[in-house]
Amino acid sequence: MRALVKDGNGEGLTMRDVPVPEIGPEDVLIRVRRTGICGTDLHIWNWDDWARRTVPTPLVVGHEFAGEIAALGAAVPGLSVGQRVSGEGHVIGRSSRAARGGRFHFDPETRGVGVNIPGAFAEYLRLPAFNVVPLPDEIDLELGAILDPLGNAVHAALSFDLVGEDVLITGAGPIGIMAAAVARHVGARHVVLTDVNPARLALAGRLVRQLTTVDVGRQRLDQVARALGMREGFDVGLEMSGAGAAFDQMLDQLLMGSKLAMLGIPAGAVPVDWARVVFKGLTIKGIYGREMFETWHKMLAMLQSGLEVRGVITHRLPAARFAEGFAAMRSGEAVKVVLDWT
Ligand code: ZN
Repeated sequence: MRALVKDGNGEGLTMRDVPVPEIGPEDVLIRVRRTGICGTDLHIWNWDDWARRTVPTPLVVGHEFAGEIAALGAAVPGLSVGQRVSGEGHVIGRSSRAARGGRFHFDPETRGVGVNIPGAFAEYLRLPAFNVVPLPDEIDLELGAILDPLGNAVHAALSFDLVGEDVLITGAGPIGIMAAAVARHVGARHVVLTDVNPARLALAGRLVRQLTTVDVGRQRLDQVARALGMREGFDVGLEMSGAGAAFDQMLDQLLMGSKLAMLGIPAGAVPVDWARVVFKGLTIKGIYGREMFETWHKMLAMLQSGLEVRGVITHRLPAARFAEGFAAMRSGEAVKVVLDWT
């Protein structure tokens, strides 16, 4: 089968033939149809320090996917060949306290599809049946391919009650934009999204109704908030950028006693004015991955009830043109790139 492989000698990825994965009794073989390119894949392409430390080579990469079940292991109940599916890319162990306690997303033995174990940028993917998520009829394969990052956004946005709240989201990447759409969908009052990339803010403004976008390179966030009638500050923050300056602004703008979900990953250690965290009595929660499988249930249900996120897909390419997709991601021109493996 064709697959995008990291061979571990510098930048880039190679499209080449590799064997179709063999499945065990509790696995499913998925014929991959659409995949999304993630920031993680870009780190692997660039072969930065994190990627060199983390990714065993050679490895088929990619973890955002949708397709159809091609074969089932002998001990897999409740799924059928031909069924349209996506799936959770975090493959967990069974022995940790967290896994035994049903807090699957906190399992320290977690291995990432396309990061630690063979991935989805290929014609076929092996996945434990436990991780498979069937797609409802209304959700096509293209949307199925971006459920992983949508799940990040949903996990962050639903961490705190947003009904009637004023929400500040820093970082207008695909996850920040989708988090804004979720905040709007679940009934926040003001949703304000910040970035320094005007094109991304414009796209977000087209995608999410009643969204206030702020280019913090040109506009003052506190003035925008006051113009919206927020005299004191925001009730809930979602940090999606990993930028130290954005985190500083977040601490400035949050009300006393407010809540902050942090998903953006800083490139290194970032100085933080912890006195503000203490004196404001903030609650801070780190967000990694998705809750298995409550986040999946919630996001599918919201997509079925009118949540609109397809607009984050700015580029659709056949898999053979993967290099163009990665170039668009690297230049910042693309928000979300979906590759077609059909
Ligand atoms: Zn991803």
